[in-house]
Amino acid sequence: MRCITDLIDPDAKILVLAPHPDDFEAVGITMRRFFEAGNTLKVYVLTSGASGVEDRFCPENPSSENKRRLRQKEQRDSCRFFGLPEGCLHFPPTQENADSNLLATEGNLTILKGIIRDEQPDAIFLPHGNDTNPDHRVAFNLTTEALGDLQFSAILCCIYDPKTIQAEVNAVMAFDENDAKWKAELLRFHDSQHQRNLNTRGHGFDERLLKTNRKLAEDYGLDAPYAEAFEVIMRNPRRPCLYDEPRERRRILQGAKGKGLLNFRDQNHE
Ligand SMILES: [Zn+2]
Repeated sequence: MRCITDLIDPDAKILVLAPHPDDFEAVGITMRRFFEAGNTLKVYVLTSGASGVEDRFCPENPSSENKRRLRQKEQRDSCRFFGLPEGCLHFPPTQENADSNLLATEGNLTILKGIIRDEQPDAIFLPHGNDTNPDHRVAFNLTTEALGDLQFSAILCCIYDPKTIQAEVNAVMAFDENDAKWKAELLRFHDSQHQRNLNTRGHGFDERLLKTNRKLAEDYGLDAPYAEAFEVIMRNPRRPCLYDEPRERRRILQGAKGKGLLNFRDQNHE
């Protein structure tokens, strides 16, 4: 199994499209390695994440606006602990519904195209499209759609997280107990999520992620206690990539993939 850092050069510009505050931290160790290697990291959080905040976290006025502010603060604090420069974290004005779900609208597609055009990334990290979380699916579909429309070439690194249904993992980042301690601290900056996990799942947000990381290391027989994992989609000049397909066919392919009928081996991994 390849290490994700073998696939991306230290001078590559990395764009993280995080549907929620905290999706960046889900692969915090990978991000830290790239950051230390000198890669530029730009993080865009695509929804407010307000629906993930319990009312008791905003006791005076549990409005969506206050919950949005709270999650942005948690994200800023976490990124400060990480060491990310202030100007590298963005909250673009995307459209979401009352449940703070990302909408698959032309407006949001335009925003994503603008981000890609502005940042000119060499690699894009985002949650995997084959996922039970609707925001993860919409973000993936909008991103591939934007790349196709722009005819823009970038390495797509799809993050395996606790909500991924199935992925053709082809790159990992193994890590040890010391890294795990740092990652747990990073994740706990998202206190609203940490407390909600403690209330509803009986374990913290840090343990939820690390449990997945432990299982991934085990599943792929790695010589390390933990791993973050990715399905990396590289553009192959000899074969069209998912986002080279015409828009209508791309939608069909994405639909098929969502149902587990198509795996990315049909695309290319070189
Ligand atoms: Zn998420």
